[in-house]
Amino acid sequence: DQRLSKRVNEMATSATLAMAAKTRELKEQGKDIIGLSLGEPDFTVPDFVKEAAVQAIHDDYHSYSPVDGYGDLKQAIITKFKRDNNLNYKPSQIVVSTGAKQSLANLMMVLLNDGDEVLLPAPYWVSYADMCKLSGGVPKEIPTSIETDFKITAKQLEDAISPATKVILYSSPCNPSGSVYSEKELRQLADVLVKHPDIIVISDEIYEHINFTGEHASMAQFEDMYDRTVVVNGVSKAYAMTGWRIGYIGAPEWIARACNKMQGQITSGANCIAQRATITALENPPSKIKYMIDAFKERRKIILDLLSEINGFKTNEPEGAFYVFPDISFYFGKTLRGKNINTASDFSLFLLEEAGVATVTGEAFGDPNCIRISYAASENEIREAMARIKKVMD
Ligand code: PLP
Repeated sequence: DQRLSKRVNEMATSATLAMAAKTRELKEQGKDIIGLSLGEPDFTVPDFVKEAAVQAIHDDYHSYSPVDGYGDLKQAIITKFKRDNNLNYKPSQIVVSTGAKQSLANLMMVLLNDGDEVLLPAPYWVSYADMCKLSGGVPKEIPTSIETDFKITAKQLEDAISPATKVILYSSPCNPSGSVYSEKELRQLADVLVKHPDIIVISDEIYEHINFTGEHASMAQFEDMYDRTVVVNGVSKAYAMTGWRIGYIGAPEWIARACNKMQGQITSGANCIAQRATITALENPPSKIKYMIDAFKERRKIILDLLSEINGFKTNEPEGAFYVFPDISFYFGKTLRGKNINTASDFSLFLLEEAGVATVTGEAFGDPNCIRISYAASENEIREAMARIKKVMD
């Protein structure tokens, strides 16, 4: 619609949300669809967190909070960074936002000028590229494949850097691939970045706790990278609090100050009740949420075992998050049940229409050979979905 801004007309709709909407529509028409498209834990919020929210309502929290978050929430975040990551921050380096998504959008808006390049190791989270473009930036993908476990090498990073490079943005554990960069691998990338001191690193660690290697490393932990690394985190994934909308950053002070300024003109402080509950969530040790991580690990095994029995699904073993990202390019150029499959989008649509299973095309994540399947679903749903897929592939 030409009455709309060029900005929004050129923007892609979030593919994951579009798939969720399509799934909902088909379900409303009475179709039996298993939704494995969303990155949303199927658990409910832990009781101790719920109680803190109820208490906050009874305590009459109702008014605007400081734009960058309550002081005691910032303190809880500082304690969490120290306890879980051995990172030291001052309150002036923390900004609480309406989900990690807003934290990332703030960062793109405060860091990018027109034409600045943002390096995106691919596959990457759907919204990165559009957030970058919205802020005038130019996304520059660094492709990987299943052969390298979807991780970039130091050489690839070096080759991708140009005088216009302003930011490198990645998630580890990664959505959609589930890959986790080890400390050693991050150090190899840091060794390249120290030669380019103006590049800012945005490290999206929203899946920190959903990590089956037992080790979470962050670029910010390297002394020579701390001053130009922003850590993005939040409570959506590990605490099953997606709808509560709380994310946060630990950042160099000048960046945190700018995010605070930006947020002050756009949304003000995040929801006050959710902020109060987040204090309780973060003050408790991660052992309290381990039951969810254990369940995800079990489901990962189930889905990988079942996928291995289906022809043409090439998988690696994801080390974190709750997704598998099979390479299904085997099917390109083939015909399934009378439908031509030429792209990952064709394949994902085929699974939705023929098997009643919602997945997301890898194209949305910068990888045209793969599809993303979320296993943040019940064991029964996973088993049924894999059985249905197997049936329509025969
Ligand atoms: N970063 C990644 C890699 C994600 O997968 C998501 C959610 O899907 C987010 C950020 C956004 O998280 P939030 O729900 O806190 O906005």
